[in-house]
Amino acid sequence: MTLTELDHDAITRLHTEQQTAYADLKARGLKLDLTRGKPSAEQLDLSNALLTLPGTDYKDAAGVDCRNYGGIEGVTELRAIFAELLGVPVEQLIAGDNASLAIMHDTIAFALLKGFPESAGPWAAEKIKFICPVPGYDRHFSICEQYGIEMINVDLGEHGPDLDQVRELAKDPSVRGIWAVPTYANPSGSIYTEEVTRALVSLEAAAPDFRIFWDNAYAFHHLTETDAPVLDVLGLAAEAGHPDRVLIFASTSKITFAGAGVSFFASSPVNIAWYLGLLGKRTIGPNKINQLAHARYLGSADGVRELMAKHRAIIAPKFERAEQILHDRLDGHGVAAWTEPQGGYFISLDVVDGTATRVVQLAKEAGIVMTGAGSAFPYGKDPRDRNIRIAPTFPTLGDVEQAIDGLATCVLLAAAEQRLAG
Ligand code: PMP
Repeated sequence: MTLTELDHDAITRLHTEQQTAYADLKARGLKLDLTRGKPSAEQLDLSNALLTLPGTDYKDAAGVDCRNYGGIEGVTELRAIFAELLGVPVEQLIAGDNASLAIMHDTIAFALLKGFPESAGPWAAEKIKFICPVPGYDRHFSICEQYGIEMINVDLGEHGPDLDQVRELAKDPSVRGIWAVPTYANPSGSIYTEEVTRALVSLEAAAPDFRIFWDNAYAFHHLTETDAPVLDVLGLAAEAGHPDRVLIFASTSKITFAGAGVSFFASSPVNIAWYLGLLGKRTIGPNKINQLAHARYLGSADGVRELMAKHRAIIAPKFERAEQILHDRLDGHGVAAWTEPQGGYFISLDVVDGTATRVVQLAKEAGIVMTGAGSAFPYGKDPRDRNIRIAPTFPTLGDVEQAIDGLATCVLLAAAEQRLAG
């Protein structure tokens, strides 16, 4: 029976049971952390060969000495591998340093200071707004918040954002961008379909310099044997008459090393020239030694695919166990719904409205640290206080089991508390 169907006595009994379960949980003195989507040490170990590459053979295929300054667009052989994987022309893909988030930050900072090529002026000269599909990636929202870009929530479904809401908002000329994590979105696991993608690139935006921040952070991070396809979003945008609308970001953070990988930026020739012009004032060139090491280690697009299969073998069981425990503990109570992602790094758990903050607090007091409730929403505010992001990749399988089981107790206890109070 679901919680709403239980009478007062049954709720009281459930509450007492969960209080006992919670006391037992606390007594275990756990110290578990499911906060950030980080690869585990076992995953990082897969790429230890990088630590000795490129060795003393430090020239790239074109004979460039990668130890020296220059080559702002990055090492060509590595760009070629990721251009193939991302389905973009190699001339339109830049390889950078260790964080795609830094490129996202910089493109926004550059737009605020200078505007895009077709902008009337710097974005900072006006009050501007971004469309934020929710739940979403907290660090996207932090960039906007930092720079005073107003964020407007739209609902993110399994196949992408609510297009009616997006179309309506885009009629406002102060709306300049939308965040999109098109493949295995953080945290919902949503996969943007070709239909949704076509609609976004064709959108009638009032702002001529409207941009889609297409963060393909999890493009190759499959958890099943069915790979979500990488769409030719630049081609689709050009076909729709908006060739400069899309900015693509990706990185090897969850392919090789999360702190010492390589980032990528792809876009139209106009945007690439704009970006390189500004980037050239910021740096004389990226860490080409690391890029060369990556090119040698990964070898080819297939090399990346093989490596991703090894990641999957390590992390897929953690997702499966987490989902199984959620089913075993919560099915039938009507207190939660969760995603069963086909890829990426997260499970998105929705608990009873108004209880997510309480669940996260209960878990914390029992030694299970979850990402703060609301963190997947602009300004850290979940309007329904119901969403919790679960990041199962970093802990061991045993720790994932204990943490999710403990979390389930907290979900039930918080729901019973609310029903008793209400
Ligand atoms: N985008 C998304 C959607 C992410 O989830 C993450 C990492 N959590 C990043 C970007 C960060 O990427 P990078 O390490 O390349 O900065």
